[in-house]
Amino acid sequence: MQSVCPFCNFVIIDPENSFFCPNCGKQLKEKPITVLKQIGIYALSFFLPPLGLFPGIKYLFVKNTKVKIIGLVAIILTIISCALTVWATMGLIDSINQNLNTQLGPYQNIIK
Ligand SMILES: [Zn+2]
Repeated sequence: MQSVCPFCNFVIIDPENSFFCPNCGKQLKEKPITVLKQIGIYALSFFLPPLGLFPGIKYLFVKNTKVKIIGLVAIILTIISCALTVWATMGLIDSINQNLNTQLGPYQNIIK
C-alpha cells in the first residue's frame, strides 16, 4: 500500500508504519500511544480523577479510533473513581451515624 505526503506529495512506501514524511519531515499521523502511557493515563484517571479528564478529553477528539477509545476509557474510569469516592464517603458517614446511634441508645431510653 502506498500513499502520498499531503505536504510535499512525496510517495510514502509504508504509510502504515510511517508517522513522519521521510522527505519533508512533517507528521503524517498521530503517533500510537504506548501501552505504558495508556496504563499511566488510566492510573491517573482512577487515582487522581480530575487530572485524568484532560488527556481523556484530548484523546476523545483525535481522529484515530484506538486513541478515542483510550480517551473514553479514561473518562469512564474517572467517573467510576468519583462514584467510588462518593460511595465510600457515604458508607463512612453511615457507619459514623450508626455508631452515634448505638452510643446514644441507652441515654435515649433514660430520657424517655
Ligand atoms: Zn512530505
